[in-house]
Amino acid sequence: MAWDFSTDPEWDEQLAWVDGFVRSECEPIDLIVAESHDLNDPVRQALIPPLQQIVKDRGLWATHLGPHLGGPGYGQVKLALLNEILGRSECAPIVFGSQAPDSGNSEILAHYGTPELKQRYLEPLLDNRIVSCFSMTEPHGGADPKVFTTTAVEDGDHWVIKGEKWYSSFASMASFIIVMAMTDPDAPPYQRYSMFVVPGGTPGVNVVRDVGLGYQPLDGGGREGYVRYENVRVPADHMLGPRGGAFVVAQTRLGGGRIHHAMRTVGLVRRIFDMIRERAVSRYTQGGMLSDKQMVQQMVADSWMEIEAFRLLTLQTAWKIDQYNDYKAVRADISAVKAMMQKVLHDVSARALQIHGSLGTSHEMPFVRYLTESFVLGLADGPTEVHKVTLARLLLADVAPAPDVFPSEHLLRLRAEAEEKFADRLAGVPRTR
Ligand SMILES: Cc1cc2nc3c(=O)[nH]c(=O)nc-3n(C[C@H](O)[C@H](O)[C@H](O)COP(=O)(O)OP(=O)(O)OC[C@H]3O[C@@H](n4cnc5c(N)ncnc54)[C@H](O)[C@@H]3O)c2cc1C
Repeated sequence: MAWDFSTDPEWDEQLAWVDGFVRSECEPIDLIVAESHDLNDPVRQALIPPLQQIVKDRGLWATHLGPHLGGPGYGQVKLALLNEILGRSECAPIVFGSQAPDSGNSEILAHYGTPELKQRYLEPLLDNRIVSCFSMTEPHGGADPKVFTTTAVEDGDHWVIKGEKWYSSFASMASFIIVMAMTDPDAPPYQRYSMFVVPGGTPGVNVVRDVGLGYQPLDGGGREGYVRYENVRVPADHMLGPRGGAFVVAQTRLGGGRIHHAMRTVGLVRRIFDMIRERAVSRYTQGGMLSDKQMVQQMVADSWMEIEAFRLLTLQTAWKIDQYNDYKAVRADISAVKAMMQKVLHDVSARALQIHGSLGTSHEMPFVRYLTESFVLGLADGPTEVHKVTLARLLLADVAPAPDVFPSEHLLRLRAEAEEKFADRLAGVPRTR
């Protein structure tokens, strides 16, 4: 196995350009545009499309796309390094054409959509002329998809979808929604559900409300759709993938996306870490700067160690994906990265908030938001606990039990084995013990 931590010089040059561009152009827009996905917001439309054009001209648009979708097919390490920079800014993924959930939904459409569906949705989606939504979680449960009750029943050459979905991000602004519904209740649990494209505005699609996150006002600003599907009719060819194949279809969108998300988190926590450092050397209290207090020093040291360890694990996982070209071979690594993501963002944000004192709790600093976002990272695409369970299962799968009541590394056992191994050479040698 070779170890090489260098970046190829050409890509390094691109990354340097991206870094400057994100800091000078994208970060200021985050403070002006309320929702960077909202194509109906004139302020957003005045600011973001011109930046998207610059990115396109530079050849950096939608770089996550494989060659089958007209993308450059960059490996995951290159994409990870790019996403690390994009993570500094909320709108940067949109400016670079790689925002969730559109990136994953485009993969699904490309794999499973009919030519007609692709023509209607794929090209405008890849160009960010429309927005899409992925609708799977239900009000009574998300972590366990086997409890979903939304149904799709065949009616001639149509399917009729009925049920409720929860936290369907961007449902109210989406041109199409990918919906998971039960088509085969008597099949084994993982073959009961199928995936459908539901065009936006289809009669019966009712967004009950847009739920906001904790730091958003109760009377607006949310984008997590609580959606009721009331006898929604879609043509039979709007089923994506085989009947009963929803779980396989859903996996299509998770591959590299988790690594990109993790590296965006690295970019964000590095930015928060810089805020910690600045505060530490700026605030004077009780006879000295915060940076002179050992507990603050511990916060700085712990944060750096955690961020760098997380970054290396993520990059190593990206590298393994490139080497093996098989997501199954890196399932453990991906679950570990997904679980660590929440903890690193949570712990670094909490320290940043604490070290900024009362100002840190205020809406004039971003820490309360980042803390909430850390929980979002620990929920969306599966709760942290589920990923830890997956990781542990994989790590335990091929471990043999101890040969008897004592562990195989029991020192008395090992010493007896060592004595036996060297018995010939030690015969007659005086021993002190
Ligand atoms: C900001 C945001 C955006 C989202 N966007 C979308 C979207 O676009 N489309 C969509 O379909 N969904 C979306 N989700 C939903 C997300 O997928 C669910 O939140 C997630 O699957 C968990 O489901 P739940 O919220 O119903 O929690 P529950 O299923 O009620 O689980 C609650 C908690 O129970 C614990 N738990 C669950 N399982 C286990 C276990 N096996 N072992 C130990 N503890 C466990 C965990 O602590 C978990 O957080 C989004 C969520 C967030 C926060």
